[in-house]
Amino acid sequence: MHIKTTGIVIREQTISENDKLVTLLTRDNGVIRAFARGAKSPKSRKNAGTQQFCYCDFDIYSGNNIFSVEEARPKETFFALRNDIQILALAQYFCELIYELSPREEQSEDYLRLILNANYLLMNGKKERSLLKPVFELRILSMAGYMPSLIACNSCGAFETDTMFFDMAKGDIYCENCNNNKYFIPLSISVVTAMRHVAFAESEKLFSFNLKGQALKDFEEIVERYLLHVTMRKYKTLDFYKMVE
Ligand SMILES: [Zn+2]
Repeated sequence: MHIKTTGIVIREQTISENDKLVTLLTRDNGVIRAFARGAKSPKSRKNAGTQQFCYCDFDIYSGNNIFSVEEARPKETFFALRNDIQILALAQYFCELIYELSPREEQSEDYLRLILNANYLLMNGKKERSLLKPVFELRILSMAGYMPSLIACNSCGAFETDTMFFDMAKGDIYCENCNNNKYFIPLSISVVTAMRHVAFAESEKLFSFNLKGQALKDFEEIVERYLLHVTMRKYKTLDFYKMVE
């Protein structure tokens, strides 16, 4: 069966002198692993289009549960992501989160749009990395079924108090009057507002907000802790990003 779709290369592995195994996030089939025969050769037309971050029109052949890339026509190489080690490290972390949290064999246009938008903003330097990182993390968690219940206090239904309290274990929030557990994490209302925006905004408006100073630091910290808590694993690329930051 032939599949024509668009997608982005999230991982590439050399498997022989001339061949690669690539992991793609595709619009129509989610995350797939595919052989790219001959793609290591500089002469191959598949060479450019099978490098990490490359966004392509793909022709893929599928048979007996094995995929192979027949053609990869680059639409955007995102090559400039490699010009700065911190930007590169964060882009690699986004790829690892996509690998971990995106669907398999399902339409995945929202996930593809998320990583493409994040990569453009990262490459153009139009948004700070300290904002891009938690927005990407919380949005992909929300899409993958880990959206915290942020609409109102879980106990009395209050929409906001100056400080709200986050129950990391259940993903619930509580107002000042209903905070009754010393393990709940205090969050300023600006952090809660940012989290609500990221969880609920339409994708065109996702990155269109700003947060500064302590609120940004708190937002970054709470989202990363929540991600590590709910996905229950470590990310090599996150460790690397923190090392180079
Ligand atoms: Zn309450």
